[in-house]
Amino acid sequence: MARIITIANQKGGVAKTTTAVNLCACLAESGKKVLLLDLDPQGNATSGYGVIKDKLNYCIYDVLINDVPVRQVILKTDVKNLWIIPARIELAGAEIELVNLDQRDKKLNHALKPIQDEYDFIIIDCPPSLGLLTLNALGAATDILIPIQCEYYALEGLSLLMSTLDRVKKGLNPNLNILGVLLTMFDARTNLSIQVVDEVKKYFRNKVFHTIVPRNVRLSEAPSHGKPIVLYDPKSRGADVYRDLAEEVLERA
Ligand code: ADP
Ligand code: MG
Repeated sequence: MARIITIANQKGGVAKTTTAVNLCACLAESGKKVLLLDLDPQGNATSGYGVIKDKLNYCIYDVLINDVPVRQVILKTDVKNLWIIPARIELAGAEIELVNLDQRDKKLNHALKPIQDEYDFIIIDCPPSLGLLTLNALGAATDILIPIQCEYYALEGLSLLMSTLDRVKKGLNPNLNILGVLLTMFDARTNLSIQVVDEVKKYFRNKVFHTIVPRNVRLSEAPSHGKPIVLYDPKSRGADVYRDLAEEVLERA
């Protein structure tokens, strides 16, 4: 059965999408069969794989709201062993439309059941909120990975995320495991980055991944070419770092 890893932090710009896109590619590169599920209406992970959204018949919205079977929505990517479920802007409406549905926070969990045996990993890229889309991702997941940007206010908002996780574990998904906390956009030249690493390690202890993602221009360029870093610039620092993360995820999972 697939490990379903939700990448979540209600803060925007902490590298959720960058991590989802590149962790997927590196796990696939290591021979695992991987599905990337874009659950952010912005569809940045979808664009990150060069998927032209206007040409799609369906996206994850149709699975959640119109009961389209999940298999019909899965697309092959240019990376061997890697498939994607795309998202488009209409997914923003699901946040509201889900409210009135039966088992509104379990929709994704039910939708993924038929394909869970077909992948080693399903990685879910969440929107920057703790609304019903993120709750659906947490309800479907076996694990959560929390990216934290090495910036001022890094820890702000995390207590809300942790209390949400507590609530999820008490009801929706008792077995949800915190796979790890990932420090991102580290800049070794600044004391601030170093301080944030210390603080996050004090708070999350052994949950923090040894791999720390540095600022790397190639990582920010890759999406505009519709490629993950291991295709865009396989020898870059960014590619190496996400390969290290994939190895750590394989050890922990
Ligand atoms: P989120 O999905 O949490 O909103 P993104 O993954 O979209 O965050 O990242 C926010 C911005 O930071 C994007 O423009 C992305 O290209 C850039 N970025 C992410 N990680 C890095 C990094 N390690 N080095 C440089 N830029 C990065
Ligand atoms: Mg994002």
